[in-house]
Amino acid sequence: MVDLNMQVVEPTQLSKDSRFKFRCHPGVSCFTECCGKTTIILTPYDILRLKNRLRIPSGEFLANYTRLEHHDKSGLPLVIMDMPRFEGRCPFVRPVSGCEVYTDRPATCRYYPIGQGTLITEEGVEEFFFFVREPHCRGYEEDAEWSVATWRADQGVEKYDEMNLPWKTMMLRRGQDGGPVADERGNKLFAMVMYDLDQFRNFVFKSRFLQVFDVDDEVKEKIWDDDEELLKFGYQYIKMALKIESAETIQPRVGPGPGATTMTF
Ligand code: SF4
Ligand code: SF4
Repeated sequence: MVDLNMQVVEPTQLSKDSRFKFRCHPGVSCFTECCGKTTIILTPYDILRLKNRLRIPSGEFLANYTRLEHHDKSGLPLVIMDMPRFEGRCPFVRPVSGCEVYTDRPATCRYYPIGQGTLITEEGVEEFFFFVREPHCRGYEEDAEWSVATWRADQGVEKYDEMNLPWKTMMLRRGQDGGPVADERGNKLFAMVMYDLDQFRNFVFKSRFLQVFDVDDEVKEKIWDDDEELLKFGYQYIKMALKIESAETIQPRVGPGPGATTMTF
């Protein structure tokens, strides 16, 4: 089981205006130390970016570099970068050049040394930030000054946060309900739709999915070859299939259409 907030953190909640000094570059004595002996949870958008960066199907990426665990509160599957398989190091770190997938590195790597959390309150979903101060990291001794907001912009996390928010919200909503009754079939569906996008695309276009669900032609065209659109569609579908929230853009066909009675989620 994995807790999304498992990192050792400073117990001070930061706002986007909080300031700090930090700089990471190949000249620091600790260069790449943070790319090992840690747990990196890969979000759906992280996986999308990495499998496209490596030009391999999502299934191959998952099999080669990750392992599956379960979120402790919601029970939903989580994908973890499988460092123990690579002698405790990230498979994409190189001793001299550093991160081999830098422009497509995961959200956690972009945020570091800031950690990010998400809360559900009565007003809705709220994000918060905190420092991850690991003793080996010398970046805090450098002079460059940031606010959390300027760091986020510099590291390009906005797109990641936008794409990952529905996934985080589903984890939290399920966790809030005390987690689901263990349902292996639902968890397998969740893992495919959220993490194995190429298989999900096959499921949509090569199974009876489109006979069971009414999907607009415009949406079908978009998800045919656009992974981001497919992921957004996947969010709608999985919320409905696992009864996490109602979906606006995907509905079971009305009446007993072909296959409608045999596919139940
Ligand atoms: S993806 Fe890149 S930055 Fe992140 S742990 Fe691996 S090598 Fe380091
Ligand atoms: S430990 Fe800190 S300073 Fe060193 S490489 Fe990692 S992020 Fe940069």
